[in-house]
Amino acid sequence: MSEETVALYLKSIEDCYLKELPVKIISIEEDGYILDRTIMHYEGGGQPGDRGKLIIGDKEVFIVNVIKRRNRIVHLAKELVEGKEGILKLDWERRYEIMKMHTLQHAISALLYDKHGIKTIQSQVYKGYGEILLEREIYDLEDEFYLINEMAREVKRYSIQKENLNPSLLKRCNLERLPKSLTKVSIVEIDGIDKCACAGTHVKNTSEIGKYWLRTMGRRIEFGKF
Ligand SMILES: [Zn+2]
Repeated sequence: MSEETVALYLKSIEDCYLKELPVKIISIEEDGYILDRTIMHYEGGGQPGDRGKLIIGDKEVFIVNVIKRRNRIVHLAKELVEGKEGILKLDWERRYEIMKMHTLQHAISALLYDKHGIKTIQSQVYKGYGEILLEREIYDLEDEFYLINEMAREVKRYSIQKENLNPSLLKRCNLERLPKSLTKVSIVEIDGIDKCACAGTHVKNTSEIGKYWLRTMGRRIEFGKF
């Protein structure tokens, strides 16, 4: 968590759908803005940083990426315009595609663990594409892996205190990788399929993922939008 910037998309699944937000500018760094709150995801956890605009008065500043640096969320800007407040606008078209792929990744990783006991070591999603690195090889996947959108499962997000985390409910997740300073953990739950601690953004229902392709390449699984 950042010390200053509240990341609204961590609160609930509905907040992952915020496209525009009035913000206060806390400080201006050499390459970007620190804001009081944000709807933009910062790069990390297998999901790219968001892009968009910060409108300051009658000026538009392009936000080219969002990163975490020295525990601060920095909205990297193409140019810097002075100001105390602004309106943050997300490149929603890009972000929504990333949300679909991220949700699909959770479901695939969960099915792999449930059906084959295979853990995901690493995953990365992009706009319309994603990949998962597994601890061991697999070549044949059941039909369910190709029907995650058709299953139309609801997705929820909620926070729980770290000490109340039941590790047995979060088997496939690497909880050791969570920052030690974290007191609350954001859980993303896909009804009947998965529960995982995650700071990324996701869709409300797996039906939103739409048509996708999926292929196994041994220890690597690739998937993408049709
Ligand atoms: Zn996630």
